[in-house]
Amino acid sequence: MSLLSVEGHADHTAAWIFVVPSESKPSCLACLLSILEDPALIPVQKKPALASLASLVQKSSEAVSSLQGNMAIASHCILTLMELLKLDDTVFVAQVLDVCVKVIGKVKSEDLVRLVLDVIQNEVTTNKDCRAVCPLFLLLGRLIHNVSSLAKVMAQDFDSLLQQLCSSLSFPDEDVQASIVYIFVYLLVGDWPANLSPGIHRQIVQEVLCLLSTAKVEALILNCLGLLRKLVTNGDSLELLMRLNMEGITLLAVLKKLLVSKKEVQQISSLQILSSIVKHPQSQSSNYTVAILQSDLMGE
Ligand SMILES: [Zn+2]
Repeated sequence: MSLLSVEGHADHTAAWIFVVPSESKPSCLACLLSILEDPALIPVQKKPALASLASLVQKSSEAVSSLQGNMAIASHCILTLMELLKLDDTVFVAQVLDVCVKVIGKVKSEDLVRLVLDVIQNEVTTNKDCRAVCPLFLLLGRLIHNVSSLAKVMAQDFDSLLQQLCSSLSFPDEDVQASIVYIFVYLLVGDWPANLSPGIHRQIVQEVLCLLSTAKVEALILNCLGLLRKLVTNGDSLELLMRLNMEGITLLAVLKKLLVSKKEVQQISSLQILSSIVKHPQSQSSNYTVAILQSDLMGE
C-alpha cells in the first residue's frame, strides 16, 4: 500500500503509516527504516527511502508527533541514519547528514540530542581514523550551529568528546581540521568561559594559533579566524594568546602573515581581531597596544 514497502509490511500496524501531503500514497515508516538498515542494499537502492523519510518528517505533522511521543522509534530512526554515515559514498553521506539534521530539528528532544552526542563521543573516542569519522564532525557542527542549547550541554557533560576533538586537530587533513574548528566556533556562545573546562579552553587557544600558522585551505583559515575573533573577547584567552610563543609561532606573527596575504577576507578579519584586542579593557593595563605597535606588524 505504501510507495515503498518491504516484504514484512503486512505486520506493520497503522501507527507506522502516515499520509504525506503531495504524495499519492501513504508512507510506512517501518518499511523505510527496514530499507535503510538492510545491509544487502547499496546506497543508490536506499536513496528513495531516504528521500521519503525526509519528506515524511518535513511534511507530515502526524509523523513528527509520533516520533516525539515515542522515543524508542525516534532513537531507532536516528541510529539507523547515523549508521549510514559510515558508508563510503560522499554524496549519499551528505544526503544522510541533511536528513539527520531534519529529524533532530523536527523532533526537538533533548534526550534525542544527548543520544546523538553519546554515539558521536563513543565513535570518535574509539575510532582514531579521523577521516572515517569526519561525517560525525560535520553532523556535530550542523547541530551545534542549529540547536542553541547544545553548546552548554557539550561543554558541561561531554568533556571526553571535547578532549578528543582537540586531539583530532593534529590529524593531518585540513578538511577534517576545518570541520572540528567549525564545532568550536559554535561551542563558544553564551557564557562559554564559565561552562568550558580550563584545560579545554587552553587547548583550543593553543591549537587555533598552531593551525593558523600552517593552514592552506581557505575554509580552515576562515574558521580559525572566526574562532580567534571569539577568543579575543575573553580576557583569559587574550592573555594566553598574547603570551604564547610556540617556537616563534605567536599571535602577532600569525596575524602579520594573514595581513600580507593579499586575501581581502583574511585581511579584514585579522584587522577586526587586532581592533578587538586594542579595544579590550585588559589591553591598557597589559600593554597589548604597545606590543602591537612595537611589533613589525604595522611597519612593512
Ligand atoms: Zn511497512
